[in-house]
Amino acid sequence: MKTNCLLCGKKFDSDMKFPICFDCDSIYPQIQINLIECLYHNGTLLRSELVDNLGTARSTIYDNLLILETKDLVKRVKKRRPDTSDGPARGRPNVLWSLKVGVES
Ligand SMILES: [Zn+2]
Repeated sequence: MKTNCLLCGKKFDSDMKFPICFDCDSIYPQIQINLIECLYHNGTLLRSELVDNLGTARSTIYDNLLILETKDLVKRVKKRRPDTSDGPARGRPNVLWSLKVGVES
């Protein structure tokens, strides 16, 4: 089956569960591939959920998210905390991460 690579857009033969060509797979560090794969399958995730999913240190996850952000592959989605019965939510909004590539919108 021919699929477009999520990262470079090249058509390639794929029977993989998520479309990254072999070139990109060898260029990108494994942790970044794992982050992209995790977001690809789960949609939008909190950093803590990425940490849980990948079993990698928070700082490593964050550093690599920033790298992927500068490459324009992922984006931050700020989400307000839901209001409670005591009134409007307090605290900073949750920051979620999602892929900028390979998503229908
Ligand atoms: Zn590629």
